[in-house]
Amino acid sequence: MPSEFDLIKQYFTRPPCGDARIGLGIGDDCALLLPTPGSRLAVSADMLVEGRHFFAGADAESLGHKALAVNLSDLAAMGAAPLAFTLALSLPSPDTAWLAGFSSGLLALADLHGCSLIGGDTTRGPLNICITVFGELPAGVALRRDAALPGDELWVSGTLGDARLALAALRCDAAADAILPLIPPLSEADLQQAAQRLHRPTPRVALGIALRGIAHAAIDISDGFAGDLAHVLARSRCGASVDADALPAGPILQKMPAALRRDWCMAGGDDYELCFTAPPCLHAAVLAAGLASGTRVTRVGRIDAAGGLRLSDGDGNMLQAPPSFDHFGNS
Ligand code: ADP
Ligand code: MG
Repeated sequence: MPSEFDLIKQYFTRPPCGDARIGLGIGDDCALLLPTPGSRLAVSADMLVEGRHFFAGADAESLGHKALAVNLSDLAAMGAAPLAFTLALSLPSPDTAWLAGFSSGLLALADLHGCSLIGGDTTRGPLNICITVFGELPAGVALRRDAALPGDELWVSGTLGDARLALAALRCDAAADAILPLIPPLSEADLQQAAQRLHRPTPRVALGIALRGIAHAAIDISDGFAGDLAHVLARSRCGASVDADALPAGPILQKMPAALRRDWCMAGGDDYELCFTAPPCLHAAVLAAGLASGTRVTRVGRIDAAGGLRLSDGDGNMLQAPPSFDHFGNS
């Protein structure tokens, strides 16, 4: 049976990547980083727990991708560029086929973003993946949650809701959602496409960087648009008006009835899109940032001085905002 050190060497250690900011990588008591002089280090951690964040028996390669993607999404939401990450991994047995798949998904995305694996910890236990990511950004340009201003336009990247649709279909949890009987059956191709959004999210790193100096506040949408927007509103001490029908539904969710579309755009979860605010005078600059980063951006509302979320449909009728996901609240 391979030892812990054999596993680390075989699946997670690679030749030095040539990034001068990585002074020392895997193999010593600590890694050493040399961030670009004058830059700010952005640090974030995210954990994926079997049975909570992914199904038991989930595809290892996709899991490797997703574990890093959700962390890179946090960097994106700050406007930071990826630098390096650590991996703390607890796994039930040294399953080499699983490790080969997991590390290939993980390291392929790391390479795509020039983000080096510089260390971690490996132990036996229930499957649990914890990544800490390090990024950097110039002083004064971080897209903080407390920086939204009344009058700002409110934007969303990409599309929303297809991950939630895939989750519902894969869990077959029609009973859990009163609205699910409304869903027409999904074709195999549509299910596959929606499942890609759930299992292989795309962190909006290039957009986050392109929005430096343009956007005021940003957050990544992991628990659902309404809930994550609420964090921005609370920290910025303001409110928002949102046109629920302007929210960009994913291509598969778009084929669904309007009520479902709205609900899962508002409070789906697992979207890993950016929600951000920018002054109206920079409307064209936001569109240009979207274009430059190859990312769709959609204006969905505005920030108000009065607190709370005011939700309307495309005709201006007021709607009730749905509750958001909370790990210790509803499940
Ligand atoms: P320590 O003596 O600090 O516990 P370990 O024996 O856990 O060190 O790890 C040896 C080296 O391998 C360290 O540099 C550590 O950062 C790295 N490492 C351990 N697990 C992983 C992993 N899953 N991915 C990447 N590097 C790892
Ligand atoms: Mg250790």
